[in-house]
Amino acid sequence: MTALVAHELYRFFHIGEDETFALRGVSLCLAPGEFVALMGPSGSGKSTLLSCLTGLDEPDGGHVLVDGMRLTRRSEAARARIRVTNFGILLQSGNLFRHLSVEQNVRFQLCLAGKTDDARVHQLIEMVGLSHRAHAFATQLSGGETARAGLAVALAVNPPILVADEPTAEVDADTESRLIDHFDTRRRAGLTTLLATHSAALARKADRIIRLHDGRVEDE
Ligand code: ADP
Ligand code: MG
Repeated sequence: MTALVAHELYRFFHIGEDETFALRGVSLCLAPGEFVALMGPSGSGKSTLLSCLTGLDEPDGGHVLVDGMRLTRRSEAARARIRVTNFGILLQSGNLFRHLSVEQNVRFQLCLAGKTDDARVHQLIEMVGLSHRAHAFATQLSGGETARAGLAVALAVNPPILVADEPTAEVDADTESRLIDHFDTRRRAGLTTLLATHSAALARKADRIIRLHDGRVEDE
């Protein structure tokens, strides 16, 4: 059983005469309940890989399977359907609706999944340490608060696979340790977590570290 499989992913970008080889044959396999840290220097392809794994971007070569279902080379709508039932996603920016408060953003995410659960909304906001900012609009938050609110949204429906791009880049040590606890809970519940991170504390808690360098996986 695998939650997520990537087979030989390639992604190239062209700007004028310049060609960037962002992914050069990346393969990986995540089991249900696995907690994996994706590490590598800036520009090594982490964000590009996460976008391809979640169907937000289409690789130039290779394929992605989610819970046994092919995600790549499908219509935008088909990818969105697979994405909504399988993934919680935290990108490096653009995770919140700017005209909604923190609380409304989280509630809206639950609503998309057909749920209304005020207790869960408050529990999520408390976990990311934002209770005092629950009514602030996304535009009024600091960088760290924005990242934490985005995490509350990404975690709202206990997604089978959480994919987060540097989730603790701007959070304090207390919040990071609460999040590590939460990732442990996810592991015990058989939910998969893939985090791109520079945090050694976070990586130490992972079952496995996948290292990217120049668009390739280094030895695990
Ligand atoms: P990381 O997340 O590890 O810092 P990225 O996946 O963001 O790395 O980037 C990998 C490489 O691909 C970098 O050289 C980056 O400049 C390039 N890149 C990423 N996205 C684009 C894009 N949309 N257009 C052009 N180049 C891109
Ligand atoms: Mg990145």
